[in-house]
Amino acid sequence: MFDESDLIPVSALQHTLFCERQYALIHIEQAWAENRYTIEGNILHERVDVVHHESRRGFRVEYGLALRSLRYGLIGKADMVEFMKNGRDKYESISPVEFKRGRKKADNYDLVQLCAQALCLEEMFGTPVTEGQIYYLQEHRRTTIPLDDVLREQTFETIQRTRTIFTSKVTPRANYDSKKCDRCSLFDICMPKALAGNRKPVSRYLENQIHQNLQEKLE
Ligand code: SF4
Repeated sequence: MFDESDLIPVSALQHTLFCERQYALIHIEQAWAENRYTIEGNILHERVDVVHHESRRGFRVEYGLALRSLRYGLIGKADMVEFMKNGRDKYESISPVEFKRGRKKADNYDLVQLCAQALCLEEMFGTPVTEGQIYYLQEHRRTTIPLDDVLREQTFETIQRTRTIFTSKVTPRANYDSKKCDRCSLFDICMPKALAGNRKPVSRYLENQIHQNLQEKLE
């Protein structure tokens, strides 16, 4: 069981999968920058993450539900969770629904985030969560995602990898990859072309640059 102070945000798992350096820049070095993709995502979540609930006989929907798992060391928020009840206090099914900008992607990043939400819900409500759904804004429909063993295994590995980087406090080196870096909001902070192969934190690199510039001016 993890301590409250050691919990990893569920949303950070996507950063680790996209680029481990991006994860470290955001969550260890506290760097952040917006671009079109992050702004669109923020606007979407501002709309759906308002905490409230709706219910009717045997069915309940929670919006902006706070999540936590001490077993896996996770904390986060679900856009929407649907609960079907089959008795006074028993749940027939629990299903997280995540809203995403754009269309279904070839990678598994969104699926891992959904699965991590399910792990939290299973612990919080003591009920297996066997599937979830993702609503892609441009497709205007939900896609059902089975939370099978393969996806769970990938999610466990991502949680473990994220925790290892977080504990080490070492920012992985930059590896320029045009498919990722050119759409990464942290491109200017990361400097993937200039810093490839450098494992020092970006903050230390910037301090060195400032020091060097000052010295040049004083000479
Ligand atoms: S610019 Fe590239 S290497 Fe740097 S954080 Fe973004 S994806 Fe990772």
